[in-house]
Amino acid sequence: MTDSPTATRAHHAWRPERFMLIVAHPDDADFGPAATAARWIGEGSAGWLVCCTSGDQGGEDPDEDPLALAALREREQRAAAGIIGYAGVTFLHQPDGALANDLALREQLVREIRTFRPDAVLATDPETLFHGDGGVNHTDHRAAGIAAVDAVYPAARNPMAFPWLARDGLAAHRVRRIYLFWSNAPTTWVDVTATIGRKVDALRAHASQIHHPEQLDERMRAWAREEGAAIGVEAAEALRLIVIDADEETGPESETEAVAEADAAAGHEHPDPEADKPIA
Ligand SMILES: [Zn+2]
Repeated sequence: MTDSPTATRAHHAWRPERFMLIVAHPDDADFGPAATAARWIGEGSAGWLVCCTSGDQGGEDPDEDPLALAALREREQRAAAGIIGYAGVTFLHQPDGALANDLALREQLVREIRTFRPDAVLATDPETLFHGDGGVNHTDHRAAGIAAVDAVYPAARNPMAFPWLARDGLAAHRVRRIYLFWSNAPTTWVDVTATIGRKVDALRAHASQIHHPEQLDERMRAWAREEGAAIGVEAAEALRLIVIDADEETGPESETEAVAEADAAAGHEHPDPEADKPIA
């Protein structure tokens, strides 16, 4: 046996040439799969971040100006995105705390997908209602997740969905994979030992949201260590992979697919990633 004695699954080796993260709030991407994004970008992928809201309710003072808070959080997210290395960030300016998976949001997301044309979309798992028995998953996280799934399939690939987009030159596009994060049922683990520090650095950019910055590094590394035990590495991010089109011969990597079997995911409970911050 050459595997680490603690490893029970294989690490995930496939890498999208282009990927898009779709999240509800500024900082979700960085509490989410930021180290995976940093790794993929470091290996040659192009990534794009879409924030459905600008986090205008992410404070604790009822007299705070929500527009000023939104502007601050957009600046924080752009700084964090620069640390991870995204090619760009789009803010859709939907209302924080009231995000709805409606046709208006779906059209915005289809427009983003058809513009950047990613192979893979990463989003929050819309089936996570509770973080195990340790917290409620924010309504916006669930709405952003299901909106992302519905935009990927079938709308983005269907030229008859929002036909004015295709007429305007935004041709239908097939996203081949969805990676869901903050899932209670992960199937895939990405080794992020080399990039977990970048994730912590990106999170520090969200200063308005981090109440205990001195605990951030250890907290994130402990969480990644817990996920990493599955594949016998120091740090990993756990994802739930949905393969829509399995035509992987056209992918950028020729390595053997190393997706883990889903059996061992039973009983996994994802901790609340935002337990130490204001709402959203
Ligand atoms: Zn959030």
